[in-house]
Amino acid sequence: MVTPSEQIEHIYRQVERRNPGEAEFHQAVREVLECLGPVLAKYPEYADQKIIERICEPERQLIFRVPWQDDRGVVQIARGFRVGFNSALGPYKGGLRFHPSVYLGIIKFLGFEQIFKNALTGLPIGGAKGGSDFDPKGRSDSEIMRFCQSFMTTLCHYLGEYTDVPAGDIGVGAREIGYLFGQYKRITNRYESGVLTGKSPEWGGALVRREATGYGTVYFVEEMLKSRGDSIEGKRCTVSGSGNVAIYAIEKLQQLGAKVIACSDSNGIIHDPRGIDLTLLKQLKEVERRRISDYTAHRDASYVQGGVIWDIPCDVALPCATQNELDETSAKTLVRNGCVAVGEGANMPTTPGGVRTFIGAGIAYGPGKAANAGGVATSALEMQQNASRDAWTFEHTERRLHEIMKNIHQDCFETAKEFGSPGNYLIGANIVGFRRVAQAMLAFGII
Ligand code: GLU
Repeated sequence: MVTPSEQIEHIYRQVERRNPGEAEFHQAVREVLECLGPVLAKYPEYADQKIIERICEPERQLIFRVPWQDDRGVVQIARGFRVGFNSALGPYKGGLRFHPSVYLGIIKFLGFEQIFKNALTGLPIGGAKGGSDFDPKGRSDSEIMRFCQSFMTTLCHYLGEYTDVPAGDIGVGAREIGYLFGQYKRITNRYESGVLTGKSPEWGGALVRREATGYGTVYFVEEMLKSRGDSIEGKRCTVSGSGNVAIYAIEKLQQLGAKVIACSDSNGIIHDPRGIDLTLLKQLKEVERRRISDYTAHRDASYVQGGVIWDIPCDVALPCATQNELDETSAKTLVRNGCVAVGEGANMPTTPGGVRTFIGAGIAYGPGKAANAGGVATSALEMQQNASRDAWTFEHTERRLHEIMKNIHQDCFETAKEFGSPGNYLIGANIVGFRRVAQAMLAFGII
């Protein structure tokens, strides 16, 4: 008799073999599969119907050439991607990432995570991801526009409000969504608001979408702390990153009475023991599009080039920058320094060794697919508003986001208990997300 864990190991090896050289994808798959042993034991039909094997194989993968001309008139060629991973629960949904590190393995890891994250929201959205190895850093506004137009010229044929609905991710914000939407509208001759989310609220976007990932991550951490009889108030926090997710995580932490003492970008760290000046940070990042090193020109704080933010003692750590930014050594440092909660605002920011350290130490660890699901959940709320040609208030939308995050926490918490691992949100999140997708796939037959 083959045990469920042997079955899973076999499936994982197959995934590795069939997708060579895609380390991040392997890592994301392994993390989910390692949680599924007890699920296979309880639902043998998942194994009979090869549900795991089918989920690990994207439904479709598009790779395309993106030619564009820079400001000097030189022709540049980037590579574009869109992976529709799973549409059992709804149209493909997931962001676009523009970053030089992008290759198929990154898009597949993100798309795979997105399946379960989107299922966790309880809203009708499938999982997808896309992007390009285009590097927006240092590019002019008109270069960004031309790139986005070229990217959408090919991608538009594969999108649609009932088919595939992209949004932003690293390197793609409201400006890029504007250029992408403009080109989609022009080529298709349709004002199809629901084809992209993260739009500006001035033309069909949802209020709170910009804030949603950061706010949602903090709500999730608040729920984890509450379940342990603790609260966020008065906590010293460090938040890596200084993009959209980090900025609005900092905002919500401050609103809830926590003190954020450090943030970072890919060059270095700001350590401001009196508490980060958010108005200044927003001015530098959102208005002037500068590096955080400029923060110290305006305020008495220290800047450490190339440092590790996790070396700064804190009670709550929110990795909100990028994948594998928090390794086992940093996780041990955090635990040693008394950190009680970690909420992942980024996708897969903690390495497997780091995750093991947090769980082993028994601290409250909120994995990205649960903790940062507020962004995509609010994208689904944007789709609802577009479909009903409505626009909700900030307060109403934020209330919905808060409810969704509380529900995700509750579902993960109870499912972890049901499967014999109380307090383990990694197991809870993976099982809740997987089971929802698996049930829909079973209902659809072999497709
Ligand atoms: N890129 C975000 C994520 O990682 C949001 C995706 C979306 O809103 O579709 O979940």
